[in-house]
Amino acid sequence: FQEEIRKTEKMKLVTSIAASVAHEVRNPLTTVRGFIQLLGKEGLSQRNRSYYQKICLEELDRAQQIISDYLTLAKPDPERIESIDIVTEIRYAANVLSSYANMQNVRIDVERCEQDIQIVGDQTKFRQALINLCKNSIEAMPEGGTLTLETGLDKINPVIYIKDTGVGMTKEQLNRLGTPFYSTKEKGTGLGTMVAFSIIRTMAGEIETTSELGKGTAFRISFSRSSSKAILASTAQQPKKETSE
Ligand code: ADP
Ligand code: MG
Repeated sequence: FQEEIRKTEKMKLVTSIAASVAHEVRNPLTTVRGFIQLLGKEGLSQRNRSYYQKICLEELDRAQQIISDYLTLAKPDPERIESIDIVTEIRYAANVLSSYANMQNVRIDVERCEQDIQIVGDQTKFRQALINLCKNSIEAMPEGGTLTLETGLDKINPVIYIKDTGVGMTKEQLNRLGTPFYSTKEKGTGLGTMVAFSIIRTMAGEIETTSELGKGTAFRISFSRSSSKAILASTAQQPKKETSE
């Protein structure tokens, strides 16, 4: 039953932003169309030619980014529910983002955690959620800083901390965090946080965000053992869809 509610909520979210996504993708496409027409003009200087080409590529990348951010959420795949080791996933996210962090003079500290801590959900989506959040943290430290990733248990409940020493947010900005298309970046999509939050909530995870302007931001993501069991139980009851793989 809980499963049904989760799915309906997700569908609502997906359809409500689908229209805006279409709109956001159309903008760069219109720009590209205009510049391709200009590129066809005779006597175009080499300088203008490279300039127009650069804009086209950037706009196409932007369209691509919007679609890929959104698709993770909208993918109608049979959600793969499996056991996920959060310590491994945190290390994975740190590895994926290491060169990006390096470029921005950001150090990634992964706090040691000796135990295996398991949660339940779709591993690919969970990775995307972590990467989206960590990427924002890195982008919040244009002057460099430290991204601290920590895993642990609160009593019996798995917890993840993502902390940065970045620009932080005002109360107002914090309120808008996670709403579709909210971005303060010149080339931002405003979808990353929304997608991450939605993935985590689908996994019955809770997110607490604290932020201080000029000091940094911290996310505390917690999963309750009992909801993990409920998710597992509800998938175990589903009839098997595929017999061979
Ligand atoms: P984008 O990164 O494309 O702007 P997101 O949805 O990922 O879109 O993030 C939305 C906005 O939330 C960002 O533009 C930024 O202003 C703010 N934000 C997100 N994470 C952080 C963070 N760790 N520190 C400061 N601001 C953040
Ligand atoms: Mg982002």
